[in-house]
Amino acid sequence: MMKESQLEIIKKILLRLSLLDGFYKQKFEGIDLKSIQSQEDFQKLPFTDKSELRKAYPLGLQAVADSEIVRIHSSSGTTGTPVIIPYTQKDIADWAKMFKLCYETAGLTNLDRVHITPGYGLWTAGIGFQAGAELLGAMVIPMGPGNTDKQIQMMMDLKSTVLCATSSYALLLAEEIYKRKVKERIHLTKGIIGSERWGEKMRRRIANELGVQLFDIYGLTEIYGPGIAMSCPEECGMHYWDEYVYFEIIDQNTGELVPEGEMGELVITTLQKEGAPLIRYRTHDLTRFLPGDCACGLNYPRIDTILGRTDDMIKVRGVNIYPGQVDEMLREVEGASCEYQVMIDHLNGKDIVTLFFETENNVDKKGIEQNIRQHCKSRIGITVVPKAVSIGELPRSEKKATRIFDNRY
Ligand code: ZN
Repeated sequence: MMKESQLEIIKKILLRLSLLDGFYKQKFEGIDLKSIQSQEDFQKLPFTDKSELRKAYPLGLQAVADSEIVRIHSSSGTTGTPVIIPYTQKDIADWAKMFKLCYETAGLTNLDRVHITPGYGLWTAGIGFQAGAELLGAMVIPMGPGNTDKQIQMMMDLKSTVLCATSSYALLLAEEIYKRKVKERIHLTKGIIGSERWGEKMRRRIANELGVQLFDIYGLTEIYGPGIAMSCPEECGMHYWDEYVYFEIIDQNTGELVPEGEMGELVITTLQKEGAPLIRYRTHDLTRFLPGDCACGLNYPRIDTILGRTDDMIKVRGVNIYPGQVDEMLREVEGASCEYQVMIDHLNGKDIVTLFFETENNVDKKGIEQNIRQHCKSRIGITVVPKAVSIGELPRSEKKATRIFDNRY
């Protein structure tokens, strides 16, 4: 439900945008923005998609005078033209405030030492983690990604208490710390993990091997960056900061809102952004609203942990598969680790799904494979060829890990 205060803000934003030339004028051509007076009216506005943002390259999204812009960030251009997001002084300050709120939600204080491994530069990750930690008054250790030797050395020497990382890099560090037998020299108590979805099993391994409590942080470059939502010690979904962002969850095919509590695609409207406000931006992230109050007492609404991306969804023999389902399924199979890769090939007129997964060395691999075959059939509805490999055989990455490879086309 849209709050009255959110509606008032949105009406003001639309009024401002209606006076601007360029991106927004084009986008809302033929729509009388002054006629938007309720949540229902708002829901008739068109969505914004990443392809439109790409077409606005480089600075077509800019919604204030040049003198107001203090920085840009950009999404990676691996799948085409990058998206450039301009930020004003207030945008940067708001982002840091949200990030501080994230850290406070995880129980950090100004005595914490925050070890930041996400990248710096055009990417929004590193600098956001840093700004929020500094605003909190904690000590920042701005490592950036890579150089595992140095990461572990600094972690020991500076007694880092909080690790900020992607889930795959956190796992890589956890494994290195275990291999080097230096766990007792590590002072981490919390891990803040962002930017890709990860299964329960991986979570448990990282938490156990590092001896930390883990938190999920959510965000995307188009909307500030990480820091717009965060899990709390109750570990049930993520709170989001609804004075800054308005969330809707839609059916990805029809564009209609899904009934409360059902899974769908997250759509975000910015409420405070000046440099590049976005209206009904399709994130392609799959989640759902969690009803009721959280036991942590925080008075902010919640979404569930991200289940996957609508574009990661792969159709095999008429069945939709999300990476999240594979994670969940592996969690139920004793002896299987959280690292996996799915290969989909087209052979002799048939789609063949091969699922590689890691297991400990001294287990009954054939038995576990059999178990996985049954679980895939009953839980996901597909037949797979399970292939057990040893722990460490599948690639680890410092960036977002791709786990499903579709080789059919
Ligand atoms: Zn909570």
